[in-house]
Amino acid sequence: MIERTGIGASPGIAIGPVYLHTSGLPDVTPRRIDDPEAEVNALSRSEALVRTRLEGLQEAHGDDSEEAAVIGAHLLLLEDPEFTGEIRERIQFESLCVEAAVLQVTEESAGMLESLDDEYLAARAADVRDVGNQLLRSVLGLPLDTWDNLDNPSVLVASDFFPSETATIPPGMAIGLCTAEGSATSHIAVFARGMDLPAVVGVDLPDIEPGTTMAFDGTTGKVYIDPSDEALGSLRERQSKEREAQAGAALRASEAAVTLDGTRIEVAANIGSDQDAVRAIALGAEGVGLFRTEFLFLDRSRPVNEDEQYEAYRTVLSTFGDELVVVRTLDVGGDKQVPGIEIGEELNPFLGLRGIRLALARPHLMQDQLRALLRAGTEGRLAIMAPMVAGRADVSDFRAALAEAEESLEQDGLEYAKDYQVGIMIEVPSAALVASRLAADVDFFSIGTNDLTQYTLAVDRTNREVAHRADSFDPAVLRLIAETTSAARSSGCWVGVCGAMAGDPLAVPILIGLGVTELSVAIPAVPTIKDRVRSLDLGACRRLADLSLAAADATEVRRIVSDV
Ligand code: PEP
Ligand code: MG
Repeated sequence: MIERTGIGASPGIAIGPVYLHTSGLPDVTPRRIDDPEAEVNALSRSEALVRTRLEGLQEAHGDDSEEAAVIGAHLLLLEDPEFTGEIRERIQFESLCVEAAVLQVTEESAGMLESLDDEYLAARAADVRDVGNQLLRSVLGLPLDTWDNLDNPSVLVASDFFPSETATIPPGMAIGLCTAEGSATSHIAVFARGMDLPAVVGVDLPDIEPGTTMAFDGTTGKVYIDPSDEALGSLRERQSKEREAQAGAALRASEAAVTLDGTRIEVAANIGSDQDAVRAIALGAEGVGLFRTEFLFLDRSRPVNEDEQYEAYRTVLSTFGDELVVVRTLDVGGDKQVPGIEIGEELNPFLGLRGIRLALARPHLMQDQLRALLRAGTEGRLAIMAPMVAGRADVSDFRAALAEAEESLEQDGLEYAKDYQVGIMIEVPSAALVASRLAADVDFFSIGTNDLTQYTLAVDRTNREVAHRADSFDPAVLRLIAETTSAARSSGCWVGVCGAMAGDPLAVPILIGLGVTELSVAIPAVPTIKDRVRSLDLGACRRLADLSLAAADATEVRRIVSDV
């Protein structure tokens, strides 16, 4: 048995034979060309072929799937003058054969995006390579479908997968995904969570024979190659317990989450697009606790304008009707870069122009978004939340920006919401420490445990070398959560958690014991977290929270909650 630890990217246990997938662009031997026009025509034929295939895939996946969104981005790339236009120019002006031109432009464009050392742009680089790969396969006369030999349900192992490859996995054939590349925010993680497939990424993979048994845990990132009977037995037992629990939870998805002693906890969804709303409701989400609006700004070359944003917000708000929808204003900067929003070179981007700081520095962006939100707010129950607030000045500047947006809508004679809630993310330790002075100015706090953990423990959440140190169960993080809930209690604010900790069943008793009343989680986790709440007693959770606050480290806290 060989053991490895990667990054848990999508929960669940996978056990099965390895299918080794070789990804990468096919080799090309440059040819001399006599007729550039014939090469350009070959490119146009390939574009048409790839377009037809992508449109077919998009239709098969339905409009509201993550896959359809990625495929939509690929269709846009096919039309992009800086991509396919550039390939044409290389053929016409540099006399390259079509396959060499596709390969060259693909490598250069993807390499340029990757060199910017940013996770989101690296994901865009994967899209460029993906479309380039399809074009190249088509001009070389290779089959576009790369899953021809996959005829048994398997654990799919690769250095990485192109997005269109994950989107075309034959139904029922993937038991789990395991890759050497990637991070918890890469497209593989997003796809796997959307498809409810266990996944581990960033694994230092040894040479593996196809067909070898592999088992892994998509939560902890533990990977076992050719596992011992003992390891296999314990994973199988956990797998069947998890499946049983999931099936039971799914049956109760639409029921409220009420603790054994009768306390109601709201379980809402984290969404990234208007299309997510329908899926979230189907799984029992009681509103949206975090709409990450920066996702609307990806896959395009310029920021989304006020009217386009208005349409997206209107759709989500009307879909949720009477349920609260918490929309977070643009959270760009740090690891999140968006095309068309330039941020200068920064030595410490996570401590730089990020979240509310960036929005305040680009007032037109903030005003476009706030106006779109307030206009859409007439369609449902709106809450507007600012990210990365560090202290009182950020709250008052945010309030001033809201007042300005209201005033401009008034002047334009447009209808807008007047009874919306205003909240802030608590994800910077300073904001948690002065929460008692911020509570009077807001309706709610939503704790971003991902960033709160990273800033409290000084661990870059995207750095593979140290990411394992970012444990939200650390008592230092818990004490900041306790500071926040106690400040809110005396002012009548409500407190939610929208970081990944809210979706961890082990963390739920601590969070509600500390006074959190709303948990906002990834869409597929809604039913299980609701069920978890139903199994708990608030008094016992409070005692557990007290013990956890007094613990010395995260290991001790995990021991305290391990058998609840
Ligand atoms: C967080 O920091 O916990 C959070 C929810 O925000 P994001 O992960 O989008 O930074
Ligand atoms: Mg955050």
